[in-house]
Amino acid sequence: MRLRLAWVLLVAACGGDPHHDPVPATANAAREVIDTNLSFDVTAKTGLATITFGPSTAIGASLEVEGLTITQVTADDGTDMLFTPAGDFGLDASTKPSTVTIAYSYLTHENFEGVSVNGWTLNWPYYCGNMFPCHSQPSDGTTFELALQNVPAGKTAVFPATIASPAPAYQLAWSIDDYTEIELGTTTAGTMISTWWRAAGSNEMTKAVAGTQHLVAAFNWLETTLGAYTFGNHYGSVSVKWGPGAIGGMEHHPFIHIASPAIGDENTQVHEAAHGWFGDGIRLQCWEDFVLSEGTVSYLANRALDVVAPGTATWTADAAELATRNGTDPVWPQTCGAIDVIKDNLFTRAVYDRGEFFYKGIADKIGADKLDQALAAFYAAHHSDTGHMADMLTTIQTVTGYDPTACAQIWLLDRSSTTPPVPGPCP
Ligand SMILES: [Zn+2]
Repeated sequence: MRLRLAWVLLVAACGGDPHHDPVPATANAAREVIDTNLSFDVTAKTGLATITFGPSTAIGASLEVEGLTITQVTADDGTDMLFTPAGDFGLDASTKPSTVTIAYSYLTHENFEGVSVNGWTLNWPYYCGNMFPCHSQPSDGTTFELALQNVPAGKTAVFPATIASPAPAYQLAWSIDDYTEIELGTTTAGTMISTWWRAAGSNEMTKAVAGTQHLVAAFNWLETTLGAYTFGNHYGSVSVKWGPGAIGGMEHHPFIHIASPAIGDENTQVHEAAHGWFGDGIRLQCWEDFVLSEGTVSYLANRALDVVAPGTATWTADAAELATRNGTDPVWPQTCGAIDVIKDNLFTRAVYDRGEFFYKGIADKIGADKLDQALAAFYAAHHSDTGHMADMLTTIQTVTGYDPTACAQIWLLDRSSTTPPVPGPCP
């Protein structure tokens, strides 16, 4: 997610939902979801979810379904299955994967809490249960298949039919609007890059072309520097009508969303692309590791732009923005599964900016190329799986020989002053 202040205000304004107790990192671990096959009728607002659980010696399974009205649950032998409205299912222990098919209806939600009446979805961080039966912990990776029926006439639904590499629940989304696709080109690894703009938007084609002018090159740099993209051979950015005041993006790989006013912003375009490696390609072990996603991609967006389009990176603007922030905001809480990413104030610019300048400080100390090698090694070790920010510090030391502990103390842990640190080479 490319967060801006307006986006914080929007999210902050949607409190009051009863669901927001943090979901512990170990919750639902007894029965992991390994595949989620979803079919939606977007006009009738019904869904059919076939959930495949991994093998487990535990009896029973649970899913988050708080916004759904379940009408039928069927076991893989075709018989009806017992369930509670809270999402507990009468599943036997099994040494093989078990499949449950759930028919349900859903409601639209505004304020970024599921399926919007305006045709798009967004369930980050823990609203997937308003959209489909799920586990919202960022560590829980599932493959997806998605189909949409009854898309309104004259409109186009942009969504991935398949996400074949494990993804967090918040990665899945669609957007339905009056879209035109521009094919921007293909990377050397063969990934086709597109962007979709809306006829109803203001001058969107011009903005989309401007915002994506270096996107193929940046994506190519990410692939060649960090490792292979794992979410298919077609990537794209989609202009989405989030509404007044919302200017950011969301890492719905392989077709990421960008708020329509921001589609001309190159940094947002590359930021969301980089989440294909950090945040999606590597999932967070806990919400406390949020900086492993947002800090890393905030750095990578500018790093990639420095290489492929010199002069377009936003280091100076980001440093100026950082200077206006409160230095006591949390960046890297030292627990796991104990916080609510929204209510405990972790969703602020502090994570983005201080994470970005943590990496920039290391790059300025040891050389950006060396840090690239550490990021690639981390991706090789953790892609399609989870990672901790602590693992990143270890990898940086192992790969580069530089111990980032003191730098992490300054940028990620020290909250003693309301004035944030000043960017510069790490000690
Ligand atoms: Zn982001």
